[in-house]
Amino acid sequence: MKLQPRSHQTVCPYSGQIADDADFAHPDDAKAAIEIVSHAAMADIHNAFSKMFKDFNRTSRFIKFEGHYAARRRPKPHFSRRDLLRELVCDHCSRDYGVYAIALYCPDCGAPNVRLHFAREAELVSAQVDLADGVDGDELAYRLLGNAHEDVLTAFEATLKAVYLHGMAVRRPDVPVKPVKNHFQNLDIATHRFKELDFDPFEHLSAADKTALALNIQIRHIIGHNLGVVDERFTAHAEHAKLGETVSLVGEDIRRFAAIAQSVIDRLDTWLVGSPSPFIDVKAVPSTQEGSPTPKEHALDLAQRIGVWIAKNSTDGGTTPVNHEALVAEFGESNETAMAIAELEADGLVTTTSYMGQSLPRIRPTVDLFFAFDALAIAGTPIEDTATLTEIVLAGPDDVNVAAVHAAIGWPLRRFNPPIALIIAEVDDRRVSKALNSTYPSQWFSLIPADRVALKALLKRVTQ
Ligand SMILES: [Zn+2]
Repeated sequence: MKLQPRSHQTVCPYSGQIADDADFAHPDDAKAAIEIVSHAAMADIHNAFSKMFKDFNRTSRFIKFEGHYAARRRPKPHFSRRDLLRELVCDHCSRDYGVYAIALYCPDCGAPNVRLHFAREAELVSAQVDLADGVDGDELAYRLLGNAHEDVLTAFEATLKAVYLHGMAVRRPDVPVKPVKNHFQNLDIATHRFKELDFDPFEHLSAADKTALALNIQIRHIIGHNLGVVDERFTAHAEHAKLGETVSLVGEDIRRFAAIAQSVIDRLDTWLVGSPSPFIDVKAVPSTQEGSPTPKEHALDLAQRIGVWIAKNSTDGGTTPVNHEALVAEFGESNETAMAIAELEADGLVTTTSYMGQSLPRIRPTVDLFFAFDALAIAGTPIEDTATLTEIVLAGPDDVNVAAVHAAIGWPLRRFNPPIALIIAEVDDRRVSKALNSTYPSQWFSLIPADRVALKALLKRVTQ
């Protein structure tokens, strides 16, 4: 605690500055308070006069008076807020308070409350997962799970960003802060930004937890922002043969994601004040049993490993078939490998073709696979690249020669193809060349105003 609770001072929940309580009263709130008191006083005065004259009337023969205050009473004023107030109870001093957006400190005692915020969010998310488990109908269950997953990510990113900006303002006031854009949607870039503060919020995570966190962020980003070419993910899931099993996998995945995210936020909370909160529930901190994975976890991790392997071994970042023999040599032909490939397919990250007498299908990556795994596989930044490339395409002519754009930007083909594929997917099919070409997803396309609008929307999604 920075301050004795119930003193006459307040800690700013956003900046940590301490000042007298009165300094935190908003002028509009003061006006509203005066109006409420004045309304009550006027009502009392009316009441008192009325009674006074009622008696007076009764005793005087010279003056006739009738009181009508009740009929003339003004309506009581009402004041309301437009933002969503988050109500919390400080776990250090038990003060209850309400804040907008993400607050870093308890206003009464000044203890960091970042982890409290996130724990509240995680609680709600866990309730959403429970709800999805009990729901009849898999499509609805998926939607609930999808929303729950996105809520974890949104809260996680917003918290990282708030703590980073606060850290820069307090600890490095002399340094101009570069715009953060969507930097906290990528663990590598987030780590890089926190280096400006000599702090690594992810240092304590095991390699497996770090991978799980990175994948959850990447995959969620594709689905949540509707970036992917495969935006019928939920429909695809609904047709998946092992649907019930997949629902519970996704549910477990979200809980694990929330637990790992919470451990990072706990670390931020500790960093803000220099010592860990006594309220961190050690048992609740994750998560990955590296010793004996259950068959389900094993299948999921294998799917991720295969995804990373495909991204790493792709030379063109396109949808050319994966080298089957190399895949078999790396992962074997077991039933588990087949399950893992089915998982990737259900997530829209690969397409498959099965052949008689072969235990594993032939697979091709989708564009989404690169967006999901490139950050891990090749330290790529496909989302940032999409923003750069979209800006270039929008600034150029209506008829777009893909090879010319590629030559102008000068990236390796492996880096160029995933973002250009995402851009081409936004253009109406009728204006995209179908001529066979093994280098690019398409050789040329042309833009009408409607496509430019779609590309601007894409740009907005990738820079949010
Ligand atoms: Zn407190």
